[in-house]
Amino acid sequence: MMTKAHTHAHPHTHPVSSWLIRRAVYPLWVSRDHPAYFRYARQFAQEQFLPPEELDKLRMERLRGLLLHAFRNVPFYRRRFEVSGVTPLDIRTVEDLKALPVLTKSEIQTQNTELLARNVPETERVANQTGGSTGSPLQFWVDKERMDSRRASTDRHNAWAGLRPGDWHAHLWGSRFDTGTVTRPTITWRQRLLYRNLTLNTSLISDEDLAEYVVLLRRVRPRVMLAYAQSAVFFARFCERNGIDDIRFDSIVVTAEMLLPGQRSVIERVFGGKVFNRYGCREVSVIASDCPEAAGMHVNGDALVVEVEAAPGLPEGTGRVLITDLFNRSMPFIRYEIGDLATPLETGKCACGRWLPRIANIRGRVTDFLVTADKRRISGISLALLAGDMPQVRQMQFVQENSRSIQLRVVAGNGYGADTVEELRRRLDPYLRGTTELSIVTVDRIAAEPSGKFRYVKTAQEVQDEFAESRSA
Ligand SMILES: [Zn+2]
Repeated sequence: MMTKAHTHAHPHTHPVSSWLIRRAVYPLWVSRDHPAYFRYARQFAQEQFLPPEELDKLRMERLRGLLLHAFRNVPFYRRRFEVSGVTPLDIRTVEDLKALPVLTKSEIQTQNTELLARNVPETERVANQTGGSTGSPLQFWVDKERMDSRRASTDRHNAWAGLRPGDWHAHLWGSRFDTGTVTRPTITWRQRLLYRNLTLNTSLISDEDLAEYVVLLRRVRPRVMLAYAQSAVFFARFCERNGIDDIRFDSIVVTAEMLLPGQRSVIERVFGGKVFNRYGCREVSVIASDCPEAAGMHVNGDALVVEVEAAPGLPEGTGRVLITDLFNRSMPFIRYEIGDLATPLETGKCACGRWLPRIANIRGRVTDFLVTADKRRISGISLALLAGDMPQVRQMQFVQENSRSIQLRVVAGNGYGADTVEELRRRLDPYLRGTTELSIVTVDRIAAEPSGKFRYVKTAQEVQDEFAESRSA
């Protein structure tokens, strides 16, 4: 644990140039810890500009290799192919993948060892897990070599935002450990010499914490910030409210949470840089991200097959996101249902020259949708925007424990009163249509999740399950 004194160390008094780190320190570390990194980095750098036919061909080659491997070596998939009445050879296009059922989180939890490849030795894989902010954590295995290619993918997508290894960047991020304890921002030698990230914890942020981040950012002056989307918005609003106009970034990469309409411009206005939206997860690393054109997030399409599949009961214009990791052999994820909804994929060439398919919008996690008593799903995004023009409402969150009632929690702003409550009810009525009981309560603050993520809508898993059952019945 670093002491308070270290917090106020001056990185500029120990200048280590980004160039030196990029050319010497990073390569040395990478070649020791990620021996296959450079091969993948070179490969991915080229593949991003492949024309569509070649990209398709490459993806199908990798997909076929993965399916054959899973069929031969993974008991779970062997059975899955047999039950579905297909073999890997029957799958000639991505469209043909639909012959296989999706892989659910609960299958990974209950059939964990059945998903392990018999021919990959234990020494070649590493355990990994998700934080479990939305329920029970997921344990899975990643090839050591896959960690190298994942880093190469991430570095490629960072480069689109102008962030190269060795560049200082701020990291407005959830706590690495879900302990709930507040850790002061510190700079370790490893960060100084290698990662060059200034970690600013978002799990519990008060105005005092944010003021401290401002002091630290003024000393280090990173050009790029990687941030949880809602934390970036929160921080931008804090700066705006306090007249802080000298925290500037060239790029702000936002991830882990949905960026709501209008929020991109708030961040860009306050920090003076460009926002790059990114979609990723622990299971497969970067899934899609904005290029400088910001014309939809490009899928990491040479390492993953991403499907957005329409299914009954989903809101209009959305599909469930299914991911196939083309490189991970020790525990293959084939048509993994990650639990997010998205708009359909856009193909066609982007102005940046890439053909990698694009996702216009992630529509949120399934749990970001409220369920009405008459079995409709309401998007949390549209509701979160309802009070955007009401200064009487500083923050709000919907909480749903059962399908008959919904609670709206409000942090009151100036002028909050009976009129405000009435206005909120009036605006919500077209959505709820009197079918679902609504209670509106004020609270002092709405905290982020232990993971540091903020949720506008929290719907209990049972409510979602009940909804799913009513649909399949
Ligand atoms: Zn592009």
